[in-house]
Amino acid sequence: MKPIHDLFSLLQQPQKMVITTHQKPDADAMGSSLALGHYLRKKGHQVSVLSPTNWAGFVDWMPGTAQVINYEQETISAEKLLREADILFCLDFNIFYRTKSMTDSLRALTCTKVLIDHHQEPDTASFTFGVSDTQKSSTCEMIYDFIVAARDADLIDQDIATCIYAGVVGDTGSFRFSSTHAAVHTLVADLKRRGLDHGKVHEGLYDNFLENRLRFTGHVLLHRMEILYEYNTALIAIPKADLVQFNIKTGDTEGLVNYPQSIQGIRFAALVIDRSEERKWSFRSKGQFDCNTFARTYFEGGGHYNAAGGRSGQSLEEAVAAFKAALPHQLSLTQ
Ligand code: 5GP
Ligand code: MN
Repeated sequence: MKPIHDLFSLLQQPQKMVITTHQKPDADAMGSSLALGHYLRKKGHQVSVLSPTNWAGFVDWMPGTAQVINYEQETISAEKLLREADILFCLDFNIFYRTKSMTDSLRALTCTKVLIDHHQEPDTASFTFGVSDTQKSSTCEMIYDFIVAARDADLIDQDIATCIYAGVVGDTGSFRFSSTHAAVHTLVADLKRRGLDHGKVHEGLYDNFLENRLRFTGHVLLHRMEILYEYNTALIAIPKADLVQFNIKTGDTEGLVNYPQSIQGIRFAALVIDRSEERKWSFRSKGQFDCNTFARTYFEGGGHYNAAGGRSGQSLEEAVAAFKAALPHQLSLTQ
């Protein structure tokens, strides 16, 4: 993988581009894809944004989502765009399997492939150009850096600023996580000067759900959360029946894994949801517990040090049992 700056000369000519991101895009995935798309179109390129799957309502308000193509729904036209692309941008993921049913198509493409991402252990051999930096708060921060490095900061308009800010807010836990270094606040100050309405973004991300979602949250915290004080750990396990009962849609479970962290002493929180195709895990830690390694070791996953995800092919009960069996081996949780 060559440095991302080597790509700039290629961008002098109009190109056909596809921007894509991981399945079920969150605020950073969608925000970075849209922001880069808005910018590259301003530069005269022909750009399509493809999402491997559908996306949540809390990102659907972002400027440009109406033009995003859902690969699962519009596979034929999406495949055509991929075939015809000169350049493929892969944002906020670093290994093709994170795009689910798009995986094989992306692997087979022979066009120029560009990676912009901040997760651990990138599959750099699969990309022509790219930047992978786990120190970055978000992929949106990296898109901002990319635009600034191309000396195009003046092209950052309100739409681009909105999308970038949304991803930064999402991935820093509203400027709370340790990834919120000084440059993140400098970036926000710059976006504000360029007309960002930050309140609108917070409302779009966090005050944008239906009644059922809040009642579901109450139900889950009361009935589905187990505190394992011995390991300073909390586990939330959600059976499929709950998702049906509360009419839970994509994105409605986002943020649930953070609630147990408000309990004194809890350093590790895990959430497992019984989805049709798999049991999907989310892991969050405070301080010295490596969620990325834990997710990789036990649940076919990965991510960051303090936030990771994974999957189990087993039943919910078996997945929960596997989690509990892994805890005694996590010495840092009991020290
Ligand atoms: P979340 O719990 O919000 O789904 O994911 C937390 C972090 O872990 C995100 O940065 C996400 O991209 C990453 N992640 C989630 N699931 C997986 C997975 O199955 N594999 C890998 N490599 N990363 C994941
Ligand atoms: Mn991200």
